[in-house]
Amino acid sequence: MVLLGAESAGRVKALKITILSTMLADGDELGEWGFAALVEADEHRLLFDTGAHADVVLKNARSLGVDLTTVPDVLLSHSHSDHTGGLLTLRKSVREKTPAALSRAHVGEGIFYPRRSGVTRQPDLSMVALKGEYEATGGMFVTYTQPVQLYPGVWLTGPVPRKYPERNWSGSARMTTPTGDAEDNLPEDLALVLDTEQGLVVLTGCGHAGVVNIVEHARSVVRPARVHALIGGVHLFNAKEQTLSWTAEKLRGFGVDHLIGAHCTGIESVFRLRADLGLDRAHAVVGAVGAKFELGRGIDARKIAQ
Ligand SMILES: [Zn+2]
Ligand SMILES: [Zn+2]
Repeated sequence: MVLLGAESAGRVKALKITILSTMLADGDELGEWGFAALVEADEHRLLFDTGAHADVVLKNARSLGVDLTTVPDVLLSHSHSDHTGGLLTLRKSVREKTPAALSRAHVGEGIFYPRRSGVTRQPDLSMVALKGEYEATGGMFVTYTQPVQLYPGVWLTGPVPRKYPERNWSGSARMTTPTGDAEDNLPEDLALVLDTEQGLVVLTGCGHAGVVNIVEHARSVVRPARVHALIGGVHLFNAKEQTLSWTAEKLRGFGVDHLIGAHCTGIESVFRLRADLGLDRAHAVVGAVGAKFELGRGIDARKIAQ
């Protein structure tokens, strides 16, 4: 009994995830090419990514009645601006009322590597600049090289080993690492994993590490449970047939109960995964702003994606 109690103490009992930025929106909210979601895990509230435009997550949070002044932690899945664009605006919007709100930004090692992108390979130091500006507001970055349990049952994967060559990133950008120049494969890309009695809930930003790599890593780090929900972007919007069928087969092997395919998952890929995973429209939807997943209740897709 004691052992069981100790084990279940490491599980999240109440969980609600609300999407605050993605392409699809209805009601008064705004859509954008980006991603953000509020995570409420037991008594802990975390913001996962911050959208693309400076003010879209702020506007959507207000429209949805989401209070960000009670959220101390921000997680940035990776360096791309469609996930980091709202950070400063959001921090500035809450710090006067609550200095500790949105004041800790958790990131993976590599997020601050200098990048060079585009045809001209212009140096891109935007994350280095953002770090300075965020710290000037009293914010602090915490960088991880390994998985970490932030709160009981609330895990950050840290950088994800690239066991399979999923290559889920678009560009031809380069980066400067401590060991030299390399292709920018977003080494910092991390996901959030919530350990629940029903299984793992995995939240991804762009899933550049590859959704199969991410889920396998989560299952080896946290526990080899089925995936109760997969939520966020997994960068399959332009995936070829072979990639889609391989990904679906692997995910089917893990067992996936719910899917909210938002952001760069791609609409066609969500429907394809829904069919291949044997899910129905109550259990697999295109993610919209305001869509929710709640433990014990499942998905509330809102209007347009139902
Ligand atoms: Zn990205
Ligand atoms: Zn993205």
